[in-house]
Amino acid sequence: MKLIDGKMVAETIKEQLKKEVIELIDKDINPHLVAILVGDDGASQTYVASKQKACQEVGILSTLYTFNSDVSEEELLNTIKFLNEDDEIHGMIVQLPLPKHINIEKVMASIAPEKDVDGFHAMNVGRMALGLPSYLPATPNGIMELIKHYKIETEGKHCVVIGRSHIVGLPMSIMMGQKNYPGNSTVTLCHSKTPDLKSVAASADILIVAIGQPEFVKADMVKEGAVVIDVGIHRIPDETKKSGFRLVGDVDFNEVSQKCSFITPVPGGVGPMTIVSLMMNTVKAASGVVY
Ligand code: NDP
Repeated sequence: MKLIDGKMVAETIKEQLKKEVIELIDKDINPHLVAILVGDDGASQTYVASKQKACQEVGILSTLYTFNSDVSEEELLNTIKFLNEDDEIHGMIVQLPLPKHINIEKVMASIAPEKDVDGFHAMNVGRMALGLPSYLPATPNGIMELIKHYKIETEGKHCVVIGRSHIVGLPMSIMMGQKNYPGNSTVTLCHSKTPDLKSVAASADILIVAIGQPEFVKADMVKEGAVVIDVGIHRIPDETKKSGFRLVGDVDFNEVSQKCSFITPVPGGVGPMTIVSLMMNTVKAASGVVY
């Protein structure tokens, strides 16, 4: 079994991005990412802080706009409109989740597609599905980078994706079926209504799991020699740890790692790649290579 080291791959990509940022600055282009954070959700604050730290590491300017959780939808939309019109800003992300009174679809649709570095705008999703230049959604793109780095064969393989969220599972399934590398797989997209999930999962050469259920995938759901990508991330109580918890994925690592050819650990697998993908998209936005 080979461990897929997302932390190492992310660092390698960051080094490359640093060089690209320097080249852009030499051309008087200062890549600039704006993050919008609404409310005081601790996890969201942590994610945004990690994104800002990554920006700093690669030389991308980052600005944070924070709003109280009772901000009106109108004020949020006006801010996005203002940022859309600012030529000095290349990328914009709205940290999810948003409070219930705000319509997420409306907010996402209001971000200019050329600044939508999360790749959530319908224009970018559509372009991605058609194989046109677009901002690829961060987590699936990070997984594609891992597959490339480890030269994992995908052509003609059976790829089973479990989970169909708009940010992970659905785009992942589209990307793995595309007519290029990494892709050309025969893809099955599973979800909570899939009957006999165990045998479908066990038929996968490449199993990508994004369901949000701690240690759900056990060894009997995995084919001998399969490649296993674990997107899930959960804190579970653990009295043996100083912090009082440990991180686990959607896959039972101890069981499954005995059986597969490659596996992503949690933490240190998919997570670091998600942030670096956002950096890649921001550099692309500043370079003007997509739009
Ligand atoms: P969502 O909750 O949006 O979607 C979960 C999907 O899994 C749904 O499609 C759901 O099916 C399906 N599902 C849930 N339970 C089962 C089950 N028992 N059997 C089969 N399918 C099931 O999750 P996300 O995609 O946003 O996130 C998934 C996990 O990945 C979470 O743990 C999240 O924290 C993590 N994550 C990690 C990232 C990283 O950078 N490492 C980035 C993004 C997410 P249905 O559609 O039928 O409801």
